[in-house]
Amino acid sequence: MIKIILATSNKHKLEEINAINKNAEIVFDVVKGSFNPDETGKNFKENALIKAKEASKIMKTYCLADDSGLCINALSGLPGIYSARYAPTQQEKINKVLTELKGIKNREAHFICSMVLVDVQGNVIHTEEGRIDGTIAEEPKGTNGFGYDPVFFVPEYGKTIAELPDSIKNTISHRANALNPMLEWIKNNL
Ligand code: IMP
Repeated sequence: MIKIILATSNKHKLEEINAINKNAEIVFDVVKGSFNPDETGKNFKENALIKAKEASKIMKTYCLADDSGLCINALSGLPGIYSARYAPTQQEKINKVLTELKGIKNREAHFICSMVLVDVQGNVIHTEEGRIDGTIAEEPKGTNGFGYDPVFFVPEYGKTIAELPDSIKNTISHRANALNPMLEWIKNNL
C-alpha cells in the first residue's frame, strides 16, 4: 500500500481525489491539524510546490498538493491564483465574477489544476497539470460540486458543473485530468 498525504485542508478536494482514485493500493490522507501555508507563488505550480513542501516538513512522507483555480479570458486570466481569495464568501466570489463580466460577450474560461508530488525530503518527484475548458454562465445553476462550479458551463453537456453528477465531474474535471496521470506515475514508480 502507498500512503500519500494531501497538502490541503479543502475537504471538497479530498472527496474528489478519493472519488477519482480507483487504485486500492494508493491511499490518501490529509495533513494533521490546520494547514494553511501562505500561497505566495506567481503561478499554480509554484503554489502547489509551497503546499507540498510544507506538508512534507510536517508529515515527513510523500505529499501531493493540488493548486487550482478559475481563469477567465476576458478578465486576463483572473481570478486565477486568487480564486480562493477573490471575495470573502463563495457566493460573493461568484457575484464578483458575474458583475465583472456583465455585458461582456466573450465568456470563455478554464479551470487549471497543478499537482506536485514531493518525497520525504520535500524534493519534487513528479508534476502534472490538468485543465477543463468552458464558459461562464449568465447566472448560477446547480448545487453539486463546490467553488465556482455553479457558473462554469460545459458546452459538451449543456450544463454547469454544479448541474452534473459528481461521477461526470470526476471524469472530465481539471482535477481528474491532473490526477489520473499522477496516479499512473505513482503506481509505476513508487
Ligand atoms: P486553492 O485551494 O488555493 O487551490 O484554491 C482553489 C480555489 O479555486 C477554490 O477555493 C475554488 O474557489 C476554486 N476551484 C478549484 N477547483 C475548483 C473546482 O473543481 N470547482 C470550482 N471551483 C474550484
